[in-house]
Amino acid sequence: MNYADNNCTYTEEYEPEHIYTFTGTVINTGKEQSVTVKAPDLFKYRQGAYIQDAFPYLSPPEREFLLSGHMFINEYEEKHPIKEERTYNMPDIHDMTSDAYPSVSEVLEMIDQANCEHKDMEYQAYEPDTNVPEDYHCLDCGKQFDIPEPDEDELRGDR
Ligand SMILES: [Zn+2]
Repeated sequence: MNYADNNCTYTEEYEPEHIYTFTGTVINTGKEQSVTVKAPDLFKYRQGAYIQDAFPYLSPPEREFLLSGHMFINEYEEKHPIKEERTYNMPDIHDMTSDAYPSVSEVLEMIDQANCEHKDMEYQAYEPDTNVPEDYHCLDCGKQFDIPEPDEDELRGDR
C-alpha cells in the first residue's frame, strides 16, 4: 500500500463499522479514486498479510491502486476474458446433426443396429417420480425408436 500511504488522503469512520477510505489520483488515468477498507483488515495487512488476503472484497484493480496508484481495469479484463466461446462451440451430443462425423464406437453401434431385427422392443413410460424420460428401444442392440402411437382401437375398446 505504498501509494495509498504516501499519495492518498484518508478518512476514518467508526460507525457503523470502523473503516478507512483512501482517496487519491489514479496515475494512469488522472481520475480520482476512493477505496474503502475495514480497519481490522488494514491492521492485518500492516502485520504482514498479503493484500489479497487482507482485503478479499476489493477488486484486483482497487488493490493495485492502493499499492502502486495504477488501475488497469481494461487490461485486467483483457487478461481474464469471460470464456463463453468454448462452451458455445461444444454442441450437446443429442443436438448433433447427421453431417457431423460419428466416432468409431458410434459407427460400430450403427452397424449393430443395422444388422439387428429389433425383435425385443421395450417401452419405458415417463416416470415423473424418478424423472425417467419416456423411451422406446431395442433390448438387443439398444437402438432408440420413436415413441409408438397409442393403439386407437385398443383405447376405444370396441374392437
Ligand atoms: Zn435391435
